[in-house]
Formats: sequence, structure tokens, C-alpha cells
Amino acid sequence: MIIVISGPGGVGKGTVVNRLLRFDPRLWLSRSWTTRKRRAGEADDAYVFVDRASFERRVAEDGFLEHIEFLGNLYGTPYPEPQPGQDVVLEIDVQGARQVKERDPEALLIFMQAPSPEVQRDRLLGRGDSPELVDERVGRAPGELAQAEALGATMVVNDDLDSTVADVASIIDAERVPDEG
Ligand code: 5GP
Repeated sequence: MIIVISGPGGVGKGTVVNRLLRFDPRLWLSRSWTTRKRRAGEADDAYVFVDRASFERRVAEDGFLEHIEFLGNLYGTPYPEPQPGQDVVLEIDVQGARQVKERDPEALLIFMQAPSPEVQRDRLLGRGDSPELVDERVGRAPGELAQAEALGATMVVNDDLDSTVADVASIIDAERVPDEG
């Protein structure tokens, strides 16, 4: 199964996903490619950081399950290579979620929202994004929510980390229950 976790920047997707991975060995996290520069303090392996020419070469070779341009940078998901029995987790934006759903209608889409625009803004500023970029990202959230609703995504509001992790884990488990009959 492919599990797509989407949501605007600053809702805490990464934190939730890392918690899920820690206690569920059946989850396999995809690592995206990006042309964005690494942020100060960001892990080396948060993405495969590449230049635009390398990214475009991979697009030309049909090397991505999905790819998008977001605020001037390219992001893409390589074709996943999980171990047998593992579920693939993609932490990607909602345009990418749409592409994945078109390719795999069975994919599970989960859309995370911040409890409020103020909380989202604080989280983005806290990781060092510029105020202009933060405004741009906060301003995109309602449109992203509307797109996610149109795709039939399951909605989760990240107001408390522990309960959000538990909610997402139970959404995933419910989807794993084999169909009967
Ligand atoms: P950031 O620059 O903050 O790391 O990511 C910007 C946005 O791009 C976030 O919403 C993030 O989830 C999304 N993103 C990261 N990797 C991918 C990807 O491979 N594909 C798509 N479609 N979105 C991605």
C-alpha cells in the first residue's frame, strides 16, 4: 500500500512520520529529490539534494513516480523500492498526492492541518524560513485543503502530537485490514 501524508508546510508532517516509523517496521519512508538548498540544521539525508540539470535528467528518464514545482524548487518521488510486505510512506504536497492517486487509486491519502494559521506560522518561522516565505506558505494552506478534500483525503488536525500519531496509526491500520468476502 502507498500512504501519502500531505499538508501545508509547518503542520508537523515530518515529526509525525518519524514517530510512526519508529514503532512500525512495516512502514518504508521514501526519500524525495529536490533542487531546494539544504536549510541550516537540516539533515544531509532529509532529501537527495541535486541541481536542476540532474533533476531534469531524471524526469526525462521517467525516473519519478510523481514530481512537482513548489515555490521555485523541484521535488520528486523516485519509484519506491520497499521490502516485500512493507507499506510505502510519501511525505509530499497535495499536487503530488493527486498524481499518486491517479496512478494508484488504492493509495491512502492523509491530509494534516495545523490547528490554526498562527501555529503554522510560528512553526515555519521557528525552522528559519523568511517571513515572506512563511506568508506565502500560510497563504497556500486553504487552497491545499480544498484540493485534498476534492481528492477524498482523510483529514487530521495536528493539535497534539501524541494523539495525532495515534490517529494516523489507526487510519493506516484500518486500511490494512484485509477485505472480507
Ligand atoms: P520543504 O521545502 O518544506 O521541505 O517542502 C516543501 C513541500 O514540498 C512540502 O509540502 C513537502 O511535503 C513537499 N514535498 C517534499 N518532497 C516532495 C516530493 O517528492 N513530491 C512532492 N509532490 N512534494 C514534496
